[in-house]
Amino acid sequence: MKTLTVSVVTPSGPVLEDDFEMVVCKAENGEIGILPDHIPLVAPLSISAVRLKRDGEERHIAVSGGIMEVSANKVTILAQSAEKPASIDVGRAKEAKARAERRLQSKQDNIDYLRAELALKRAINRLEISGDK
Ligand code: ATP
Repeated sequence: MKTLTVSVVTPSGPVLEDDFEMVVCKAENGEIGILPDHIPLVAPLSISAVRLKRDGEERHIAVSGGIMEVSANKVTILAQSAEKPASIDVGRAKEAKARAERRLQSKQDNIDYLRAELALKRAINRLEISGDK
């Protein structure tokens, strides 16, 4: 089976580099499936799961947005943060979710709603990928 090399990199360092048969990412304008020999592509990603398929199994990585670049059977994902399910701290994500929900419900004037909405999305994404939701 042909494969492509997937590399997920964050400012804190590499999170994963391995070969997969297919990568499915959520771009800002919809889902993109990448198979070997895909044409070169650059796309912005949403806060979402990157799905990596090999040998009938699927692995997930939580990404907080970022950029995907495809060229020459290599997929590079540059993200502000990215976690494998095992490294997600569920308690921390639950606290972040509760904090963001409190901010969004607050009637104060000085709340940055967009920031709270993004924090809520990151927390829900982590909880979904850790299997705790
Ligand atoms: P928090 O409010 O808990 O910091 P956040 O969504 O604001 O959450 P980010 O700014 O996305 O956090 O991430 C900062 C760093 O902390 C990144 O390296 C990210 O991988 C890590 N991180 C954030 N939340 C978690 C979590 N629940 N489990 C593991 N790592 C996390």
